[in-house]
Formats: sequence, C-alpha cells, structure tokens
Amino acid sequence: MLLEIKKHPFPLLKKRCEAVKTVNGEIRALIRDMFQTMYHNNGIGLASNQVGHDLQLAVIDVGDGKRVIINPKIIKKQGKETSEEGCLSLPHLFLKIKRAKRIEVEALNEKGENVRIKGEGLLAFCLQHEIDHLNGVLIKDRIGFLHKLRNLIK
Ligand code: ZN
Repeated sequence: MLLEIKKHPFPLLKKRCEAVKTVNGEIRALIRDMFQTMYHNNGIGLASNQVGHDLQLAVIDVGDGKRVIINPKIIKKQGKETSEEGCLSLPHLFLKIKRAKRIEVEALNEKGENVRIKGEGLLAFCLQHEIDHLNGVLIKDRIGFLHKLRNLIK
C-alpha cells in the first residue's frame, strides 16, 4: 500500500521517535508499505515519521538491496565528506551536507535480529540521513544560519 509522505512542517518530523518494542507482523507490514512508497517516489531511504509513524524504523536501498534499520545506534564514525542531499519531506531542496564518510550502525532487522551495518559513501550518508530523521532532525537543520538565509529556508 502506498503511504502519504509527510512534508515539512509536519510535527512528527521534529520529534525523536519511540523505540520499537516488538518486531511483529504489524511492523513487517509497515516495512513493506514503506519500501513500496520509497521506490514509488524514487527515494533511497525513508523513515517511519515521514509516513506518520512514531517509531525508530527506517528503510534504505542505495541500489544494492533492501536494508531495514530498527532502533539504530551509530557505534563508529570515521572521516568527513560533503555531498548534496535531498529529502522526500523537503521537495525541491538540495543541500550540501557534511557527514562522516564511514560509519557502523547497530540495529535490529525486519526479523528482530541484531545486525551491524558498515557503510561507506552513499550508504553511510543515507544511514546518517535516516537516523537524523528518527531523531527529529532534517537536512535544513544541518546547515548554518547564513546558508539558510541565502536559501530562504524556514
Ligand atoms: Zn529525508
């Protein structure tokens, strides 16, 4: 089922999402819908609060297959790199964001198993972008005041 993507300023986009307690059938159904919605909108990642759910859950596919992160924690960060990012909740806005180049994330997968994901480049940026969403942070919050003024971003 296609879900409606919530756009800024939708209140849940600013909230730190609640941890998922049990990875059950309901969660797996939401994961299926989130992948379908993400692919339909040509996205590479989608967080649950972008579709109106208050859960530490995001789906990712940077071109090498599906990845699900539930209750993710970044356990390692290395290097810095700036790249241009967009966001399905901020249409037509592309911003240069500086992030760690390599990261390691601990999370649960769609089966409720503990997984570790090591990411570099696009996967690392995408993981950080989605984990930001789950903490109520959007790309517009990652840039300085002057940059915002120049781009007239609220
Ligand atoms: Zn986004």
